[in-house]
Amino acid sequence: MDQADAFTSVIHQVEGSLSREQYNAALAVIVFVMGASVICAVLASELTVRAFSISIFLAMIIAYLRITRMKLSVLRNSLEDAARNHGEAVELAERDALTGLPNRVAFNQILHRYEQEAAHERISLIFFDLNRFKDVNDSLGHNIGDELLKQVAQRLRPLFSDSQIVARIGGDEFAAILPTDCTVTIRDWGRKIHDALTIPFDIEGHEIVIGTSMGAAIGDVKVDGGEELLRRADLAMYEAKSQQSSELRLFDSRLSQKLSERRVVRVEMPGALLDNQIKLAYQPIVDARTGKLECAEALMRWASPVLGQVSPALAVPVAEESGQIVALTDLTLREALRVATKIDACRVGVNISPVAFRQSGFVDAVATHLIDAGLGSDRLYLEITEGVLISHMEQANRTVKQLRDLGIEVYLDDFGTGYSSLSYLQNFEMDGLKIDKSFLRHLGRREQATQIMRSVINLGHSLNMTVVAEGVENEWQARLLQLLTCDRLQGYYFAAPMSADEFLAYARDNKSKMAASDIADDEGPAAASMSA
Ligand code: C2E
Ligand code: CA
Ligand code: CA
Repeated sequence: MDQADAFTSVIHQVEGSLSREQYNAALAVIVFVMGASVICAVLASELTVRAFSISIFLAMIIAYLRITRMKLSVLRNSLEDAARNHGEAVELAERDALTGLPNRVAFNQILHRYEQEAAHERISLIFFDLNRFKDVNDSLGHNIGDELLKQVAQRLRPLFSDSQIVARIGGDEFAAILPTDCTVTIRDWGRKIHDALTIPFDIEGHEIVIGTSMGAAIGDVKVDGGEELLRRADLAMYEAKSQQSSELRLFDSRLSQKLSERRVVRVEMPGALLDNQIKLAYQPIVDARTGKLECAEALMRWASPVLGQVSPALAVPVAEESGQIVALTDLTLREALRVATKIDACRVGVNISPVAFRQSGFVDAVATHLIDAGLGSDRLYLEITEGVLISHMEQANRTVKQLRDLGIEVYLDDFGTGYSSLSYLQNFEMDGLKIDKSFLRHLGRREQATQIMRSVINLGHSLNMTVVAEGVENEWQARLLQLLTCDRLQGYYFAAPMSADEFLAYARDNKSKMAASDIADDEGPAAASMSA
């Protein structure tokens, strides 16, 4: 029995250190030795040899039993390991590695489960993303962006109970399922999310202020389908974003109509570009002191046989989404420069959407248009918005510089409507800025509005920029802006956008509604406001 004990102790020592293959090999050796000891015991003539063989045989039996039990436990362990690994793999596949929130796969599975289960019929879905997240990534780097996402997840988690799922479903996009179909509740949720995410974040000493755009859809998950509800919530969010609204936007039939309108616009646009349905209107921009025509802004006008007049506010974003903006920009540049060839000493201004501005070869395309029209660069200026400058700052800066090196003036449009215009003025050298028409609403009536306008004009001048006020609708505004030393004025008071022929006639007459002497004579309300 000593040998048997020795065997089992050896086996005990190596327990856990052998692989399944090694156990199998050991088992085979034991069976072989068992067989040999049986043969020896039967054939041996000497008693001591026989007894030795029998004890070897018994030791082998014990070893065999021990080792098979071990093999079973090894098998069980490896099965358990496999099951655990599988569970972890599933868990990993369904969790967002960065934030630990459920990911898109998990979110879709939950929606799918809701479709199958009777318990959840009507649900609410919220879709939201982070405003300015791209800016954070671009300007502060991806590590800070990642940390921001983690902190966002930390703030979101306590807002949701176990029955309310919140998931990160892509980049800076999140979605939540609430098993309720109450509009009031969903708005409350919107407010909670908004409040949680608008408190500034402190990441490695950077104070980061972000906001969120939120859309929601309420529906019967069995009838509408989870995927469709998510799509509606996404579209509602898109709408909230395009209106720069911090309120949760609920998907409704009006939005649905608007979206189908967008779809028609998208379908109709290629034909419109080919069939000359898109024309340009020209709005004069005059010198604020003399009223003399300085330049004209070209504005697209689309008379569609299917849709009627399509507003540029609708057509331009659709063209940007569908890639037709390049063709639209080409058309605008070509047509505006054609009209410029028919008048003297007046620049035409063309609005350039961020998508068109970022196209590679944009500067070359503009230069080619000038060459084709036989015009110098002093006959064209471009209006760009903050959107151009927000992302890909370096590239945008290079493009602005290349255009200006060619002699093409670049103006910052809609100044004051964005959120960080001052930093753009600091970083980008441009020829001028156009103060957004919303600034003019209270001008001449509220002292504060007048002071702000004065500051913006002074700011532009301190950066050597020409300052243009747009949306001038009455004489008061015009007079006050002149007194505030604004350089140029544009608006219905001087002229509404007009057809090319009308504009050419206007340019020939070069009518001035606002001779300097007229203003000096008159002590209107604007002047009163100035002295207040
Ligand atoms: P924007 O660049 O700010 O253009 C000025 C808008 O103000 C024009 O609207 C113009 O008709 C309007 N407007 C002019 N004077 C007055 C006024 O005294 N009072 C008021 N309330 N409005 C005035 P429109 O033509 O509807 O264009 C809307 C926007 O669509 C433009 O805003 C511009 O951002 C975009 N857009 C227009 N044409 C083009 C284009 O050819 N290409 C691109 N990318 N965008 C364009
Ligand atoms: Ca403009
Ligand atoms: Ca504008």
